[in-house]
Amino acid sequence: MSLFETIKETVTVGQAAEYYGMKIGRNNMICCPFHNDHYPSMKLNTTYYYCFGCGATGDVIQFVANLFGLSNYEAAKKIAVDFGITPDNPPVIAALKKPEYMETKSRQKELHECQKMVCEYLHRLEKWKALYAPERPDLPMDERFEEACENLSYIEYLADYLTFADEEEGFEVVKSMKETGYLEDLKYLSGSRDEEDVYAEEAKAA
Ligand SMILES: [Zn+2]
Repeated sequence: MSLFETIKETVTVGQAAEYYGMKIGRNNMICCPFHNDHYPSMKLNTTYYYCFGCGATGDVIQFVANLFGLSNYEAAKKIAVDFGITPDNPPVIAALKKPEYMETKSRQKELHECQKMVCEYLHRLEKWKALYAPERPDLPMDERFEEACENLSYIEYLADYLTFADEEEGFEVVKSMKETGYLEDLKYLSGSRDEEDVYAEEAKAA
């Protein structure tokens, strides 16, 4: 793909206009930079612009060329530099399109699953702490009671944090939990261990 094509595929007219300091209003209209425009008369479409006042039109490269008084080739080079597009590196803007969207989606899903696990584990620990508390100090401590004492405050903290953190902060937590392996632990800890509970609840009720 030529530089021209790469740029036209990856940078929209709107992205260029915004990058070079133009304020985009409703319906992607801007004040035309090519005539004395007091009210926005230029429409920015994805691949071309059109001014209803002076009739100026063209693609993103022509837009930048006219804006800075450059040749089309110079304008293409300028866009490539400003948007980090090189023949070797994948274009930054292109990387921001679909892949980033998909990545965000999958991170949101992970975050949501993580919140769910933390929440389930929290409820389990709260239940265990009440259910398996030793009835007399001289009795051996139930493992589940010990687990609850050990982990409850951290899990409470984690649940609180994930509830109030913004999405980016949440992504960071999930990322570090993955790196430390805690996310895997949490899968086990919050996973189905219910048969033990049922048994214990029955034993306690008896
Ligand atoms: Zn115009």
